[in-house]
Amino acid sequence: MAAPTRLMSRLTLVTGGGSGIGRAVCQRFASEGASVVVADINEESANETLGSLQRDLRGQGHMTAVVDVTSKESVTKLITSIQSRYFQPPSVCVNAAGITQDDFLLNMSEEQFDTVVRVNLKGSFLVTQAVAQALVSCGSNKGSIITVGSIVGKVGNLGQVNYASSKAGVQGLSRTAAKELSRFGIRCNCVLPGFITTPMTDKVPEKVLTKMQSLVPMGRMGRPADDSGYVTGASIEVTGGLFMG
Ligand code: NAD
Repeated sequence: MAAPTRLMSRLTLVTGGGSGIGRAVCQRFASEGASVVVADINEESANETLGSLQRDLRGQGHMTAVVDVTSKESVTKLITSIQSRYFQPPSVCVNAAGITQDDFLLNMSEEQFDTVVRVNLKGSFLVTQAVAQALVSCGSNKGSIITVGSIVGKVGNLGQVNYASSKAGVQGLSRTAAKELSRFGIRCNCVLPGFITTPMTDKVPEKVLTKMQSLVPMGRMGRPADDSGYVTGASIEVTGGLFMG
């Protein structure tokens, strides 16, 4: 359930905001009162997300931004454009931009490997770094950076050696960022979705999805807006980072 004022006056940035999970995050943030920057490489889908957002009546409005998270120049431009519109960096950032290019290890090309790692891992690094630098240099002492990992990064998955590696990588990125940025009041966390119905999973063959679904105790795929309705069997640490490893 959305709490209409929970994020009131918070400026939030969502990469991959044009589709699937990123779009659902933008919609939830807007419904909780936040100003949302919908950032995506696909301008048209970012605009579609913008059109679906609840109006930010008391805040400073929402915006879209075209960004390629794999490019430092593009990410720097994104942060500059946010700061020139809102006069502050985003205090909440969700790294949801991601891609798949599946193939079995024996067949996967170097390019397929590099491309997926570049978007999912390097992209999350560049955005996390740019947001953290902007927060630290403006003297803010409050921030939250959330990276969308994947359960596949933890357990592996047939045909996804590139994707699984990138998603294991973002867990390391998030933990390290958490250790380094805690002293600036910036929290960093990673969420690990299972199989969630989005344009990304539309590419997965039906028989693979049916097989996966049969392994899920809840008996169904998740939906981007499920919220805690698709969280079960998880141990979520609430420790201030103690014993993070
Ligand atoms: P999606 O394909 O619906 O959305 C991904 C978005 O990222 C798209 O709008 C796309 O344009 C954008 N994007 C791609 N490359 C980009 C780039 N270089 N720069 C900026 N934006 C870029 O996929 P989704 O299922 O919503 O996935 C969102 C995140 O969740 C991804 O990181 C994905 O790996 C992760 N995830 C998804 C699932 C799932 O089952 N759907 C499971 C676990 C994790």
